[in-house]
Amino acid sequence: MDSKAVRQKFLNFFINKEHQIVDSAPLVNKNDPTLMFTNAGMNQFKDFFLGNEKSKYPRIADTQKCLRVSGKHNDLEEVGLDTYHHTMFEMLGNWSFGDYFKKEAIEWAWELLTEEYKLPKDRLYVTVFEGDKDDNLGLDQEAYDYWKAIIPEDRILYGSKKDNFWEMGDQGPCGPCSEIHIDLRSEDEIKAKPGKELVNNDHPQVVEIWNLVFMEFNRKASGELVSLPAKHVDTGMGFERLCMAIQNKKSNYDTDVFVPLINYLADKAGVKYGSNEQIDIALRVISDHVRAITFAVADGQLPSNTGAGYVIRRILRRAVRYGFTFLNFKDPIIFELVDILDQQMGDVFNEVRAQKDFIKKVIEQEEASFLKTLDNGLKRIESIKSSISDKVIDGKTAFELYDTFGFPLDLTSLIARENGLSVDEKGFQEEMAKQKERSKADAVKETGDWTVLDKVEKVEFLGYDSLATQAKVIQYRTV
Ligand code: ATP
Ligand code: MG
Ligand code: MG
Ligand code: MG
Repeated sequence: MDSKAVRQKFLNFFINKEHQIVDSAPLVNKNDPTLMFTNAGMNQFKDFFLGNEKSKYPRIADTQKCLRVSGKHNDLEEVGLDTYHHTMFEMLGNWSFGDYFKKEAIEWAWELLTEEYKLPKDRLYVTVFEGDKDDNLGLDQEAYDYWKAIIPEDRILYGSKKDNFWEMGDQGPCGPCSEIHIDLRSEDEIKAKPGKELVNNDHPQVVEIWNLVFMEFNRKASGELVSLPAKHVDTGMGFERLCMAIQNKKSNYDTDVFVPLINYLADKAGVKYGSNEQIDIALRVISDHVRAITFAVADGQLPSNTGAGYVIRRILRRAVRYGFTFLNFKDPIIFELVDILDQQMGDVFNEVRAQKDFIKKVIEQEEASFLKTLDNGLKRIESIKSSISDKVIDGKTAFELYDTFGFPLDLTSLIARENGLSVDEKGFQEEMAKQKERSKADAVKETGDWTVLDKVEKVEFLGYDSLATQAKVIQYRTV
């Protein structure tokens, strides 16, 4: 089954269960100071969960573009090194707003995976929330009992708050969850070590594919949990991981979601994917990052020097450096991949098709501008390497790399790590603060990327705490 069919089958399945299909929300959040980028399917429905707004439909399903490169869910460091965390990925989801609850969510998830997608039952594990003392919550017995009716008990595992209590951020709607994991290893490997020992253990072939969240609480700014006015279901399934499982591959990058991108790059570089780990990582990183950048630009977020725009610029520069150092790409090339993305996803995400030429131009210019300083920056690091004795790139030098050569701090840290060095990040921040002082006179003001709050001197976001009033208010306090 190709990835297009996988996506469509998901949506059809939930249409048959009376769900309304909706569009993905944009990748970039312009009006939520607690969240820069959409990091889960539920984000766009937050106000439904909180009871601030009522959903027109009690059941919804969709595929949501997600980006996990900042905040509570930040996977950037894993991307490319592992084979199942992406910066941008699609999260397939089904929701119930005060309608069905645990029973249907669990039974339908099982039905879809095993009867429609025909995933082998003896390769699946499920987890349930074991409870948490601090939050005064016990075992999710209800979920356990529903699972017990469909899967042998030795395949039901207990999970702690870290894995089995889903929270969007430090505050907001949250609840216990039940996850489905799949073991894609060979029979021999399974004989040697049972899959249940590897669930939630960073094994690339024993991965979480679907999370069923039972939204029951709102975490307030104080940390306190309060019950939501109604109970809801929020599920999220990683589309690329699902494709890996259905296509029986060992890595997301071996599915038809990524193969065309990897092949294009490998061909241009004159290398073969799978022959050298460092080259493979570079191919994976670029084919991952181009998706994040493309979809961000398609949603109106240009690379810039502040806020969300700088996150996008950092991702792009990371990709350019991987290409330059490991694939010998000295000229812009990443922008060419947008054509492939358009072929693969343009039908579903029309924003990419509609703005394809613009997106390509933006990426090409960004690549060209960073390529102008990248080589000299890398040479600077080479020369530092031989001159430092303590294996630490000091704050001043890291700042020089940032200021003169356009190296984001995380890129300098990454290159440092590759060379067995580290970076004095605190020192870098001090240099950054000094420069901000110097340029204060120029009244540099962040606009465009973020909510601008000029009415008050300085504000602190206190959270969505409007259940009592049933009104959609965001509270601020002057500090
Ligand atoms: P993991 O434990 O693997 O990091 P998660 O528990 O953080 O995943 P959830 O927040 O539960 O993930 O998101 C729901 C689903 O989205 C996951 O079950 C997984 O299939 C998928 N997913 C999460 N993060 C990523 C990512 N960075 N790239 C691709 N898919 C992801
Ligand atoms: Mg995660
Ligand atoms: Mg997890
Ligand atoms: Mg999870």
